[in-house]
Amino acid sequence: MDTLWSGSTLRIVECAPGIAELCFDRTGAAVNTIDQTLLDELDEALVQLAARDDVRGLLLTSAKDAFIAGADITVLWDMHRQWPADQIAAFCRRMQRSFTLIEDLDMPSVCAINGFALGGGLEVALCAHFRVLADDAKVGFPEVGLGILPGAGGTVRTPRLAGLPVALAWIVGARNHRAAAALDAGVVDQLASPDALRDAALQMLRQAADGEIDWRARRTRLKGGFARDDAALAAARADLGKLSRHQPAAPAVVDWLERSASMDQSAALDGEEAVFTRLVKTPTAGAMVSMFLSGQSLNQKLRKQGGAARQVNKAAVLGAGIMGGGIAYSTAVKGTAVVLKDIAQEQLDLGIGEAWKLLGKLVAKARMTEEQAHAVLASIEPTLTLDGFDSVNVVVEAVVENLGVKQSVLAEVEAATPADTILASNTSSLAITEIASALQRPENMVGMHFFNPVHMMPLVEVIRGDKTSDQAVATAVAYVRAMGKTPLVVADCAGFLVNRLLGAYFTALNHLIRDGADFVQIDRVMETWGWPMGPCYLLDVAGLDTLDKAMKYLGAAYPDVMAPPFPTVIQTLAEAGRYGQKTGAGFYKYEPDSKGRPRRSADPEVRDLIAGIQADGARDFSDQEILDRMMLAMILEAGRCLDEHVVESAVEVDTGMRLGTGFPLHHGGPLWLADQLGLPAILERCDRLIAIGGLYVPGEGLRKKARDGSRFFDAIQA
Ligand code: NAD
Repeated sequence: MDTLWSGSTLRIVECAPGIAELCFDRTGAAVNTIDQTLLDELDEALVQLAARDDVRGLLLTSAKDAFIAGADITVLWDMHRQWPADQIAAFCRRMQRSFTLIEDLDMPSVCAINGFALGGGLEVALCAHFRVLADDAKVGFPEVGLGILPGAGGTVRTPRLAGLPVALAWIVGARNHRAAAALDAGVVDQLASPDALRDAALQMLRQAADGEIDWRARRTRLKGGFARDDAALAAARADLGKLSRHQPAAPAVVDWLERSASMDQSAALDGEEAVFTRLVKTPTAGAMVSMFLSGQSLNQKLRKQGGAARQVNKAAVLGAGIMGGGIAYSTAVKGTAVVLKDIAQEQLDLGIGEAWKLLGKLVAKARMTEEQAHAVLASIEPTLTLDGFDSVNVVVEAVVENLGVKQSVLAEVEAATPADTILASNTSSLAITEIASALQRPENMVGMHFFNPVHMMPLVEVIRGDKTSDQAVATAVAYVRAMGKTPLVVADCAGFLVNRLLGAYFTALNHLIRDGADFVQIDRVMETWGWPMGPCYLLDVAGLDTLDKAMKYLGAAYPDVMAPPFPTVIQTLAEAGRYGQKTGAGFYKYEPDSKGRPRRSADPEVRDLIAGIQADGARDFSDQEILDRMMLAMILEAGRCLDEHVVESAVEVDTGMRLGTGFPLHHGGPLWLADQLGLPAILERCDRLIAIGGLYVPGEGLRKKARDGSRFFDAIQA
């Protein structure tokens, strides 16, 4: 094969008589990414190719496991923080121009996509006149999930190639698509098995070069406008729903696609660049890009933290209740065999029944075959005895929340398991060190705090007790990762990380209502800001009886911050038997809607109860005052947690709150938010709230950063 051009990111060879192959193959890297070097080399290589009159077709391939992974996200981060708008626009235009050179060659081109082509990678592939996709590969535009839109021709070529409805679904949806869906959508032209991919693409290219496929017609179609589809636009707008208030990229895509339908390709590329440049600078893009990068840094750290893990071939779960059943299911569904032990047969039956229901849903969604579902269920072994515990590597205890019961159950299990078996407790409020004090080998004991419902919630706090060994932590981290969840290593303190921060947030609510604020307004303000549920609605869903107990426990642990010296609204409603949705009344009244789901409505009775605890009666609060009080309480508690090394980094605090509580992604997390508000401004606001007490006293770390002019997210590092 003659080499026609060669660089550090790509080469062009003559792979067959008259056929050139442009192969992306970045030297020394596992994946192909798009950067300045690649663009320079692409320009130079294509100019030389265009000058040759002995080449009649171009095949695009990758020598890596995937085609092109997309643009380097750290470049996006620099754009957001440092680049002036004209530099961003110039970079965008540069990508568009370089990629368009492929489309504009006077010869047909076919792209063979292996592995995946995401974002910029798919935009390169769309510049070939045809695409053949490996049937195990995935393609998509993740950009809206980063607060931006595809800026290298993706919003221009997708609607012209596949139509407006596909462009809307693919770009706004920001998901990866499997091969069959990509073919259906018309984004690719043919599928092939990975082994046959190159040959299939080559064959299609020969047909185009021989005039059997009209590649010029395809190119002409991409150069014009596309059909406007009002119904698709209206449906996309309806789907944006609540999201659009907080996520400027999604509505911007819909507006932009509507505007650009009548434009030719060149005008549309200019317009795309303008929207891209605007979106990169939005605070939402800043939060989303930084959270993406911090997620990558956290993953690296977790890989290291899990490095010394013991191999887990078989796990055991004690207690087949709400949590234990979910933990056993989540273990088995990812391929690890698990013994599920309870003291009551009916609980085991319930646990297995729940697992079967969840598996049925996967089968219904075609994410699993019925045969696979049966195999998963068979890998959960229900038992009333400790038989079989002599071969388990990890035991997760999820029995009733009682120190004595947990200690005796775990001591019994310790005696029935090998000396290197890791014992974990899913306690929500007991100290791991204290539970472990009843064991022979406390170094093997670790906390594993799952959230409810286990199969849906992506976070698990891994708690290190005083004597917990590094290997126990590593094994817990690796086991949680094997479940497809994110572990966070947390110190053994009351509430751990997530519930401790929620405790401060609910304490702020208790104060606000006591000081006369209207709870309906509080919920409205917090939901408008981006929380999936306002705090009062959340309390109703979680159960005021449970939360009353939890707040008393946190109040005893953090008396200066979370023990207000007055009867709180949470306590008052719980004592009145208003537990929330489960009793039909809490802050709100609940009645089943037509589908049987509880629907909230105002309840005059609650007003009297609340009036009884408002010492000075009701008073007006501005929305800003409410927001400040609620979010500052959470931010300050997050700062104290860092001071006390509850977790090691701001990235971990923010990840925990996003994954554990649904903290709105577009605000990053409590500490990202603190940086955006400005730490000196936070101190000023705290000064005005200091009379309330310790809740609004900033920790030393936050004060110091404010003095030094530094930030929590100076560097994105977990
Ligand atoms: P649950 O009452 O639903 O289940 C407890 C199960 O343990 C029951 O099936 C019971 O029969 C079984 N059990 C009791 N003693 C046992 C023993 N000696 N051996 C084996 N099984 C025994 O409780 P749950 O809500 O699943 O909570 C379990 C644990 O998880 C508690 O420590 C709780 O604090 C914690 N937790 C609960 C939640 C939640 O939202 N429910 C969230 C996080 C953590």
